[in-house]
Amino acid sequence: MSESGLIIVYTGNGKGKTTAALGIALRATGYGKKICMIQFIKGSWHYGEMTSSKRLEPEFEMIAIGKGFVGIIDDKSSIEEHKKIASEAIKISATKIQSGNYDIMILDEINYAVNLGLVKLEEVLTLIKSKPTHLDLILTGNYAKAEIIELADLVTEMKEIKHPFQQGKKAKKGIDF
Ligand code: ATP
Ligand code: MG
Repeated sequence: MSESGLIIVYTGNGKGKTTAALGIALRATGYGKKICMIQFIKGSWHYGEMTSSKRLEPEFEMIAIGKGFVGIIDDKSSIEEHKKIASEAIKISATKIQSGNYDIMILDEINYAVNLGLVKLEEVLTLIKSKPTHLDLILTGNYAKAEIIELADLVTEMKEIKHPFQQGKKAKKGIDF
Protein backbone atom coordinates (compact mmCIF):
# COMPACT_ATOMS: atom_id res chain seq x y z
CA MET A 1 0.00 0.00 0.00
CA SER A 2 1.44 3.36 -0.92
CA GLU A 3 1.72 6.15 1.62
CA SER A 4 -0.88 8.83 1.21
CA GLY A 5 0.35 12.12 -0.20
CA LEU A 6 0.28 15.50 1.47
CA ILE A 7 -1.28 18.75 0.40
CA ILE A 8 1.26 21.44 1.24
CA VAL A 9 0.72 25.18 1.07
CA TYR A 10 3.43 27.86 1.29
CA THR A 11 1.86 31.25 1.66
CA GLY A 12 2.45 34.59 3.44
CA ASN A 13 4.18 37.85 2.62
CA GLY A 14 7.71 36.76 3.53
CA LYS A 15 10.30 35.43 1.11
CA GLY A 16 10.83 31.70 0.73
CA LYS A 17 7.68 30.12 -0.70
CA THR A 18 8.99 29.06 -4.10
CA THR A 19 12.45 28.28 -2.75
CA ALA A 20 10.90 26.00 -0.09
CA ALA A 21 9.12 24.08 -2.85
CA LEU A 22 12.37 23.89 -4.84
CA GLY A 23 14.11 22.62 -1.72
CA ILE A 24 11.68 19.70 -1.54
CA ALA A 25 12.26 19.01 -5.24
CA LEU A 26 16.03 18.92 -4.65
CA ARG A 27 15.58 16.64 -1.64
CA ALA A 28 13.13 14.28 -3.32
CA THR A 29 15.19 13.79 -6.49
CA GLY A 30 17.78 12.34 -4.12
CA TYR A 31 15.45 9.38 -3.75
CA GLY A 32 14.68 9.13 -7.44
CA LYS A 33 11.21 10.57 -6.92
CA LYS A 34 9.48 12.15 -9.90
CA ILE A 35 8.59 15.80 -9.53
CA CYS A 36 6.85 18.25 -11.79
CA MET A 37 6.76 21.97 -11.09
CA ILE A 38 4.38 24.15 -13.05
CA GLN A 39 5.05 27.86 -12.79
CA PHE A 40 2.00 30.03 -13.07
CA ILE A 41 2.63 33.72 -14.00
CA LYS A 42 6.42 33.57 -14.17
CA GLY A 43 7.08 32.94 -17.86
CA SER A 44 8.59 36.20 -19.03
CA TRP A 45 11.42 36.51 -16.50
CA HIS A 46 14.40 34.27 -16.03
CA TYR A 47 14.84 32.50 -12.71
CA GLY A 48 18.00 30.45 -12.03
CA GLU A 49 15.94 27.34 -11.35
CA MET A 50 14.66 27.35 -14.94
CA THR A 51 18.23 26.47 -15.94
CA SER A 52 19.48 24.49 -12.93
CA SER A 53 16.37 22.29 -12.89
CA LYS A 54 17.63 20.77 -16.15
CA ARG A 55 20.47 19.18 -14.17
CA LEU A 56 17.87 17.29 -12.16
CA GLU A 57 16.11 15.93 -15.23
CA PRO A 58 14.57 13.50 -15.91
CA GLU A 59 13.35 13.15 -12.30
CA PHE A 60 12.54 16.85 -12.07
CA GLU A 61 10.51 18.51 -14.78
CA MET A 62 9.85 22.25 -14.76
CA ILE A 63 7.27 23.95 -16.91
CA ALA A 64 6.96 27.75 -17.02
CA ILE A 65 3.70 28.79 -18.53
CA GLY A 66 2.80 32.24 -17.25
CA LYS A 67 3.44 35.63 -18.78
CA GLY A 68 5.12 37.56 -16.00
CA PHE A 69 3.39 39.47 -13.29
CA VAL A 70 -0.02 40.88 -13.96
CA GLY A 71 -0.24 44.64 -13.73
CA ILE A 72 3.50 45.18 -13.14
CA ILE A 73 5.02 47.98 -15.26
CA ASP A 74 6.57 45.69 -17.86
CA ASP A 75 3.34 43.71 -18.25
CA LYS A 76 2.50 43.88 -21.94
CA SER A 77 -0.25 41.26 -21.90
CA SER A 78 -3.96 41.90 -21.57
CA ILE A 79 -5.89 40.37 -18.68
CA GLU A 80 -7.64 38.11 -21.22
CA GLU A 81 -4.28 36.86 -22.40
CA HIS A 82 -3.23 36.14 -18.82
CA LYS A 83 -6.49 34.29 -18.22
CA LYS A 84 -6.05 32.18 -21.33
CA ILE A 85 -2.56 31.20 -20.29
CA ALA A 86 -3.64 30.50 -16.71
CA SER A 87 -6.41 28.24 -17.95
CA GLU A 88 -3.86 26.43 -20.13
CA ALA A 89 -1.69 26.01 -17.02
CA ILE A 90 -4.64 24.52 -15.14
CA LYS A 91 -5.29 22.06 -17.97
CA ILE A 92 -1.66 20.97 -18.06
CA SER A 93 -1.65 20.67 -14.26
CA ALA A 94 -4.77 18.49 -14.33
CA THR A 95 -3.27 16.20 -16.97
CA LYS A 96 0.01 15.89 -15.08
CA ILE A 97 -1.70 15.36 -11.71
CA GLN A 98 -4.00 12.66 -13.04
CA SER A 99 -1.30 10.93 -15.12
CA GLY A 100 -0.01 9.10 -12.07
CA ASN A 101 3.52 9.68 -13.41
CA TYR A 102 4.66 11.89 -10.54
CA ASP A 103 5.31 11.60 -6.82
CA ILE A 104 5.25 15.35 -6.22
CA MET A 105 3.52 18.13 -8.13
CA ILE A 106 4.31 21.78 -7.43
CA LEU A 107 1.87 24.44 -8.57
CA ASP A 108 4.05 27.49 -8.11
CA GLU A 109 2.33 30.88 -7.63
CA ILE A 110 -1.09 29.31 -8.15
CA ASN A 111 -2.43 31.18 -5.12
CA TYR A 112 -1.63 34.48 -6.85
CA ALA A 113 -3.35 33.28 -10.01
CA VAL A 114 -6.51 32.60 -7.97
CA ASN A 115 -6.23 35.87 -6.10
CA LEU A 116 -5.83 37.83 -9.33
CA GLY A 117 -8.92 36.16 -10.74
CA LEU A 118 -6.95 34.41 -13.50
CA VAL A 119 -8.00 31.01 -12.22
CA LYS A 120 -11.25 30.09 -10.49
CA LEU A 121 -10.94 28.85 -6.92
CA GLU A 122 -13.34 26.00 -7.80
CA GLU A 123 -10.94 24.77 -10.49
CA VAL A 124 -8.10 24.58 -7.99
CA LEU A 125 -10.27 22.81 -5.40
CA THR A 126 -11.28 20.28 -8.08
CA LEU A 127 -7.62 19.75 -8.96
CA ILE A 128 -6.72 19.15 -5.33
CA LYS A 129 -9.62 16.74 -4.78
CA SER A 130 -8.84 14.79 -7.95
CA LYS A 131 -5.23 14.07 -7.05
CA PRO A 132 -4.08 10.45 -6.89
CA THR A 133 -3.83 9.30 -3.27
CA HIS A 134 -0.06 8.88 -3.26
CA LEU A 135 0.71 12.29 -4.81
CA ASP A 136 2.20 15.09 -2.72
CA LEU A 137 0.81 18.37 -3.99
CA ILE A 138 2.46 21.70 -3.21
CA LEU A 139 0.76 25.03 -3.82
CA THR A 140 2.66 28.29 -3.40
CA GLY A 141 1.90 31.99 -3.39
CA ASN A 142 0.63 34.51 -0.91
CA TYR A 143 -3.09 35.04 -0.23
CA ALA A 144 -3.91 31.31 -0.15
CA LYS A 145 -7.69 31.03 0.03
CA ALA A 146 -9.27 29.63 3.22
CA GLU A 147 -10.84 26.77 1.22
CA ILE A 148 -7.40 25.66 0.02
CA ILE A 149 -5.95 25.94 3.53
CA GLU A 150 -8.87 23.84 4.76
CA LEU A 151 -7.98 20.99 2.38
CA ALA A 152 -4.26 21.13 3.17
CA ASP A 153 -2.29 18.92 5.56
CA LEU A 154 0.65 21.27 5.93
CA VAL A 155 0.44 25.05 5.72
CA THR A 156 3.35 27.37 6.37
CA GLU A 157 2.95 31.10 6.36
CA MET A 158 6.19 32.91 5.52
CA LYS A 159 6.12 36.11 7.48
CA GLU A 160 8.20 39.09 6.51
CA ILE A 161 10.27 40.32 9.44
CA LYS A 162 12.84 42.13 7.27
CA HIS A 163 13.47 42.20 3.57
CA PRO A 164 16.27 44.09 1.75
CA PHE A 165 13.61 45.48 -0.57
CA GLN A 166 12.47 47.69 2.34
CA GLN A 167 15.93 49.30 2.32
CA GLY A 168 15.65 49.93 -1.38
CA LYS A 169 17.90 47.00 -2.26
CA LYS A 170 17.20 45.34 -5.58
CA ALA A 171 16.43 41.68 -6.18
CA LYS A 172 19.63 39.65 -6.13
CA LYS A 173 20.71 37.06 -8.67
CA GLY A 174 20.81 33.59 -7.12
CA ILE A 175 18.90 34.75 -4.04
CA ASP A 176 15.74 36.25 -5.49
CA PHE A 177 15.78 35.04 -9.07
P1 ATP B 1 11.31 33.03 -3.39
O1 ATP B 1 11.09 32.70 -4.86
O2 ATP B 1 12.55 33.84 -3.21
O3 ATP B 1 11.19 31.84 -2.51
P2 ATP B 1 8.60 33.73 -2.78
O4 ATP B 1 8.18 32.60 -3.63
O5 ATP B 1 8.32 33.64 -1.31
O6 ATP B 1 10.14 34.03 -2.97
P3 ATP B 1 6.97 35.49 -4.40
O7 ATP B 1 5.82 36.13 -3.77
O8 ATP B 1 6.76 34.37 -5.34
O9 ATP B 1 7.99 35.09 -3.26
O10 ATP B 1 7.77 36.66 -5.11
C1 ATP B 1 8.72 36.46 -6.09
C2 ATP B 1 9.85 37.48 -6.00
O11 ATP B 1 9.65 38.49 -5.01
C3 ATP B 1 11.17 36.83 -5.65
O12 ATP B 1 12.17 37.46 -6.39
C4 ATP B 1 11.29 37.08 -4.17
O13 ATP B 1 12.63 37.07 -3.74
C5 ATP B 1 10.67 38.44 -4.03
N1 ATP B 1 10.07 38.61 -2.68
C6 ATP B 1 9.53 37.67 -1.92
N2 ATP B 1 9.09 38.16 -0.74
C7 ATP B 1 9.35 39.48 -0.77
C8 ATP B 1 9.14 40.58 0.15
N3 ATP B 1 8.59 40.37 1.34
N4 ATP B 1 9.56 41.81 -0.24
C9 ATP B 1 10.13 41.99 -1.45
N5 ATP B 1 10.35 41.02 -2.35
C10 ATP B 1 9.98 39.78 -2.02
MG1 MG C 1 7.16 32.43 -5.38
